Order: sequence, then structure tokens, then C-alpha cells
Amino acid sequence: QPTIGVLAVQGDVREHVRALEAAGAAAVTVRRPAELEAVDGLVIPGGESTTMDKLVRLFDLHAPLKARLEAGLPAYGSCAGMIMLADRILDGHRDQQTLGGLDITVRRNAFGRQVDSFEEDLHIRELGPQPVRAVFIRAPWVEQVGEAVDVLARVETGPAAGRIVAVRQGPLLATSFHPEVTGDHRFHQLFVEIVKEGA
Ligand code: GLN
Repeated sequence: QPTIGVLAVQGDVREHVRALEAAGAAAVTVRRPAELEAVDGLVIPGGESTTMDKLVRLFDLHAPLKARLEAGLPAYGSCAGMIMLADRILDGHRDQQTLGGLDITVRRNAFGRQVDSFEEDLHIRELGPQPVRAVFIRAPWVEQVGEAVDVLARVETGPAAGRIVAVRQGPLLATSFHPEVTGDHRFHQLFVEIVKEGA
């Protein structure tokens, strides 16, 4: 059973801990560099990426996180976590930094004020024929991807149709939406499999 950390400086940590446990992992919270050393994979939750960035730096986690990601630590970022894993941000806060690792450009709060939050069924080949209920909350979308990035899902209907909202690049996984709030643990199961492959 792999041990998967949830970055616990800010955001919906508990939901990810529960989803990871349901997906067959031992889940622990990560707030300190020593806790980071003990994990086989890391989830970066949804929340507010500007705050998360500040706290990560305040808790002396920025450099250790970057180092482990560069060394190949599997990581899954949901919403704000996707922003943290992105190499490039559009509409970021002044002096906002990310950890990077994913060769993508994300746009923060991309869906606009009128559609702050919405839900949609997405068809994701890697997760089987049954659609995934995707919950978007002031979500980013992925505006550009590098060659090594696999696009797992795009918005299927409405004005944002075609926008990329789930990606994978080797051991890094990211979604614009929040599978941890739906009770459908297939994304967490996929991540647990990625972590096992890496072990
Ligand atoms: N809008 C948030 C940000 O920019 C992300 C929202 C979320 O994680 N639900 O970080």
C-alpha cells in the first residue's frame, strides 16, 4: 500500500485524504519538509493558489517540493493544485509562483464570473465508459500543452467546449475540477496506480 501525502497548508485537504483512503492508499498530511520525505506521491488540493503559494514558501516547502517533483515524485493537482503544478500561469497574481513540473499553461479563474461554478459529465477514456461528474469551482483551464502532455479531458458543452481540463505528463496528473467531492474515486485510483508504478 503506497503512502500518499496531501499538501495541507490550505484547501480541501480532508476530502482528498478520504478519497485516497477509499482508493486503497495510506494518506497522510504534509505540512513540513520531513513529512514530505516520507511519501511516495503527493496530492495538491483545491483551494486558492495564491495563498497556497505564499504558505508553501512560508513553511519552507517550496524548494523541497520542487526538488522532489524534479526527482520524479508522482503528484496529482486538483484545481488550485493544477495551477501549482503548471510551468506557466496566465492571470496569476502579481509575483505568484508555481512549483511547476507540468509543461502546461493554465489560465486562472478562466471560466469567468458568470459561471463561477458548474458541473458537467465528462467522458474520459482512461477511466472507462462511465462519464465522470466534473465539479468546477472558479476553475482554471489549460490553455496550452507541451508535446509530452496527454490531454485526458476537455469541456464537452457550452461556450467553453473544447477547453482542456485534465492532463497527464508521466507521473504528474492534474484536473481543473474536483473529483474528491463527488464520491467517484476513479481519478484517485488512477493516481494510486501511477504511484505504484513509480515505486
Ligand atoms: N481560483 C482558485 C485559484 O486560482 C482555484 C479554485 C479552486 O481550487 N477551487 O487558485
